[in-house]
Amino acid sequence: MASNRTLKPDHRFDCLECGACCRTGHDGRILIPPEDLVRWRASGRHDIADAIQPGHFGEVAFATRNDGSCVHLGTSEQPNACQIYNVRGSTCREFEAGSAQCREYRREFGIDSPAP
Ligand code: SF4
Ligand code: SF4
Repeated sequence: MASNRTLKPDHRFDCLECGACCRTGHDGRILIPPEDLVRWRASGRHDIADAIQPGHFGEVAFATRNDGSCVHLGTSEQPNACQIYNVRGSTCREFEAGSAQCREYRREFGIDSPAP
């Protein structure tokens, strides 16, 4: 998520070498708060606001491809970069590299993590 869904507080984690958390959205897990939809629509990014699917807890989530990856993941230069990095969702911004959830996603995708 060029870095993707994270502020990268732990610099030992290179999100561009990973991308695991952007590939876990098959069941509507990568939620989009309503204010993000308002923000995108207000700035004319209806393409982002419309690329959604039903999410957990009655919310909406990023649409995904058949493999569960977010439809915004990957550029021609970098498969783990976020196409909408500068305007990405709040969930993406708040996700912490090195967090327990990050480590869990990496484990799921067979990517080793630095020691805690
Ligand atoms: S799982 Fe962690 S290291 Fe991988 S892209 Fe997401 S935040 Fe970055
Ligand atoms: S918008 Fe998609 S590709 Fe971009 S950081 Fe969020 S989950 Fe990852």
